[in-house]
Amino acid sequence: MNKSYLEIHPWKVIENTFDKNRVKSSESIFSIGNGYMGQRANFEEDYSGDTFQGSYIGGVYYPDKTKVGWWKNGYPEYFAKVLNAPNWIGIKIIINGENLDLNKGNLKSFQRILDMKKGVYKRKFEITLINNIEISAEVTRFISLTEDSLGAIEYKINVVNKDCEIYLEPYLDSKTTNKDSNWNDSFWEIKSYKSSKRFSGIISETKKTKFKVCTYMTNQLFHENELIDTLPLKNKGNGKISESFKIKVNKRETVKLIKFAGYLKEKSQKTQNLFEQSQLITRKSLDMGFDKLLKLQANSWKKIWDVSDIKISGDNKSQQAIRFNIFHLNQTYSGKDAQLNIGPKGFTGEKYGGLTYWDTEAYCFPFYMFTKDKTVSLNLLKYRYFQLNKAIQNASKLGFDRGAALFPMVTINGEECHNEWEITFEEIHRNGAIVFAIYNYLRYTKDFNYIKEMGIEVLIAISRFWFQRFSFSGDKKKYVLLGVTGPNEYENNINNNWYTNYIARWCLIFTRDQIKKLKKDYFEDFIKIEKKINWNNNELDHWEKIIQNTYLPYDNRNKVFLQQDGFLDKELIPVSKLKKSERPLNQNWSWDKILRSVYIKQADVLQGFYFFSEKFTKDQLEKHYKFYEPFTVHESSLSPSIHAILACKIGMINQAYKFYLQTSRLDLDDYNSEIEDGLHITSMAGSWISIVEGFAGMQIINDNLSFKNNLPEKWNTLSFKINYRGSILEINLGKKKNEFLWKGKSSIDIFINGKKNSLS
Ligand code: BGC
Repeated sequence: MNKSYLEIHPWKVIENTFDKNRVKSSESIFSIGNGYMGQRANFEEDYSGDTFQGSYIGGVYYPDKTKVGWWKNGYPEYFAKVLNAPNWIGIKIIINGENLDLNKGNLKSFQRILDMKKGVYKRKFEITLINNIEISAEVTRFISLTEDSLGAIEYKINVVNKDCEIYLEPYLDSKTTNKDSNWNDSFWEIKSYKSSKRFSGIISETKKTKFKVCTYMTNQLFHENELIDTLPLKNKGNGKISESFKIKVNKRETVKLIKFAGYLKEKSQKTQNLFEQSQLITRKSLDMGFDKLLKLQANSWKKIWDVSDIKISGDNKSQQAIRFNIFHLNQTYSGKDAQLNIGPKGFTGEKYGGLTYWDTEAYCFPFYMFTKDKTVSLNLLKYRYFQLNKAIQNASKLGFDRGAALFPMVTINGEECHNEWEITFEEIHRNGAIVFAIYNYLRYTKDFNYIKEMGIEVLIAISRFWFQRFSFSGDKKKYVLLGVTGPNEYENNINNNWYTNYIARWCLIFTRDQIKKLKKDYFEDFIKIEKKINWNNNELDHWEKIIQNTYLPYDNRNKVFLQQDGFLDKELIPVSKLKKSERPLNQNWSWDKILRSVYIKQADVLQGFYFFSEKFTKDQLEKHYKFYEPFTVHESSLSPSIHAILACKIGMINQAYKFYLQTSRLDLDDYNSEIEDGLHITSMAGSWISIVEGFAGMQIINDNLSFKNNLPEKWNTLSFKINYRGSILEINLGKKKNEFLWKGKSSIDIFINGKKNSLS
């Protein structure tokens, strides 16, 4: 269902009207961030209508005590919450005694613009207040890419019809709470305030985790573009600190407030240092000024777009969508810090906010690997390496031993946070995605160093887990995986989910091969690892037994792998036969009914066909796609992108295009009526792969990079760049010709539509 209320524009997201019922949706859509922090597009001035206030700092979390009905051994003690952090955007505005509030008075016009090219969020409106004062306002806000902790706001007010007195009170408010708190705890403790001539700051600390954050600001007031040099009055207490200005303004004159503000976080910093450092940032910002910082912002975004832009001609809807997705992916994760990761909602909401899922490895990894410097994808791999000990502890909590690791389904610091047994204990395929990302990195970069120095430990620990998790079925005379949940979470506690069995076996094979390579080519490194992890060569022999004899459910009649044992016992009624009113199933059916039905939440067997497409023939892929697609309800945002890629591979381009729009415009068009809660950041990476791996058919085949032109009818051309083995490859696909420009020093061979080409 398409509920778009936003204008189509290749570089901008534009909202032209004000609808009180859409404020929360737009707060999500127009969110801004820089990887270090981010926030929803809440208004700076007071708003008495319905709003969802949210501002978040990467990695700053609180361990909220777990709440479950029936406690099961092995459950995590807490669920890490990425915290709604102090508000630094607030500006109270009173005009002739009347509070400016868009929920009151008579709003004549309203517009929001997210300028994705420059990384800037703007808002314009004209309002007549209850006291009949008419003003127009223009607000510009951005979160700096050059200074991680800094945000900037320019708030301009033009008085239209009367002389008046304007009171402006920019403030910081650290009494924020989370909507999703389990026990209504408050998560922040206020530690100290500081206010000097041109600086205000509050230091607050998270309870339990002890993250110290300085929320700071400095403000400047201009009247008709002249800086007013009087200092503001200061006020502090009760978690708030403010600076207030009062100014008399004549009709048609403009007042402008500039606020530089943000957060500086630290775990070990002394309070004084945090204040001093924040003060330095504010001084630097004042010296530079808003306009210069704005230019720097545009330049930084230009550098990002230079490599990561995807240009589509002939279809602005698709164009806007992919830029919106790329924009948010860049706002969510910059790759500078290996302790941070990509949360499914990024900095745009609380649900899943800021926490790490298998989404990172299964969906996001290629985007960052191909559009950024190598350090970024390495940081994503290191993130899991640094959490390996916790993954080993997590597995031992469940009864595994000898260094077996089960990485968490949801985490922020390596500890499991999820507490639904069918997912926490059973959705173990997540371990496979982590290995797949290591493999992806290796095959595209040919850089073995990560595996040699760190990855091999991750691979072995995961393989040890699989080895212990398989059991031998005397009946089937095969190794089986019992009691699992596959990617399709509409089936729980099933036996032999094909995807999980397949990827588990593949992990054993891949790890075996890397151990052999390490032993052969880097023997000294192997010896070091061998000691460190207590490696025993017999382990390979044990694994081999499973590799040679894994059970993979298959149906001879349909010639398809079965999603799980007993899948064909279900009533095989296609989704097309369901009533519209029953969809989405998760909002209209009981969980019990869902579990017994055939309906597939998201790509499951097909996820395996996506990961390992080169292992299957086109005919096999087509059979599986045509068998499973009719039962798939795509009720996870991660689903349509995989179906788009596979549809491209079998030449169903129109269907692929439909899925592409669903994945890339999921939030812009609010397909699932849920964007109020935040955006689907990780599935945005799915939009990127559906273009690059779907419509441009990028793939490694027999160790060669290859492309296939699968352009949808509407698209005249598609152009993008990838960072391939340290150099840029530019891909231009058109209706009549395809052009590839290689910036590397030595030549490479690539395959284009099946034909070998040498690029130099
Ligand atoms: C999906 C999972 C995904 C999670 C976070 C769930 O709805 O089923 O595969 O990891 O959302 O995006």
